[in-house]
Amino acid sequence: MISLRNITKSYRNGFKRAFVLRRVSLEIEAGEFVTIMGPSGAGKSTLLHIMGLLDEPSDGEYQFRGTPTSSLSEKQRTELHRTQIGFVFQAYHLIDDLTVYENLETPLLYKGLGRSERKSKVAEMLDRFSLVAKQKLFPSQLSGGQQQLVGVARALIIEPRVILADEPTGNLQSAQGEEIMQTLRNLNRNEGVTIVQVTHSEKQAGYGDRIVRLVDGAVDEDVAVDAGAATAA
Ligand code: ADP
Ligand code: MG
Repeated sequence: MISLRNITKSYRNGFKRAFVLRRVSLEIEAGEFVTIMGPSGAGKSTLLHIMGLLDEPSDGEYQFRGTPTSSLSEKQRTELHRTQIGFVFQAYHLIDDLTVYENLETPLLYKGLGRSERKSKVAEMLDRFSLVAKQKLFPSQLSGGQQQLVGVARALIIEPRVILADEPTGNLQSAQGEEIMQTLRNLNRNEGVTIVQVTHSEKQAGYGDRIVRLVDGAVDEDVAVDAGAATAA
């Protein structure tokens, strides 16, 4: 699904180069639930942005579902964003002047779905995330947890093959955080959606099957989560 080979990302810093990712190689199969961990500044978000085709590597090869991404046109990238890749960000990224309903409908408009199909998909998501009563409110009228639920619902509404979640529960209280983690786990287990999440929480990492630790832009460890830990979480 996601195949990274010797991915390097660097920025020019005066006369020097600052390396954010150093020869990162990772294979993520369809249906996996992978957690990326590591200290602040280790390059986790940069790696997720590259996986999500929001950023490009300086060097190395990235294949998404067997296609070298360096050969994708802008149009093909946009198409993948509309149909296959769902993002959940720590800072929600909702559109402030659209209601909850409209925020959920927007990805379906871009995907080109007709009115009645949009309506039924939005209704299903509102129901699934207990947001029916909030559908006419604007993001600023919701709690942080509710905004994040809308963010997750919006990522899921296109029925992506991959969800990339950057500290999806970073700003939430633990009960709300767990609700989101359970949603992601169910999606992974029941629908086979591939998930890559970044988190600082070992407990949340226990929802996935594998942990990749980044230190200083390089893979320091890549291990399976033991089943006992996962069920305890
Ligand atoms: P993490 O998510 O692990 O905290 P990031 O991927 O956000 O780390 O950032 C890793 C490093 O890359 C940081 O030192 C950050 O300052 C640097 N960085 C990120 N984006 C840029 C950029 N556009 N220009 C220069 N440096 C950047
Ligand atoms: Mg980050």
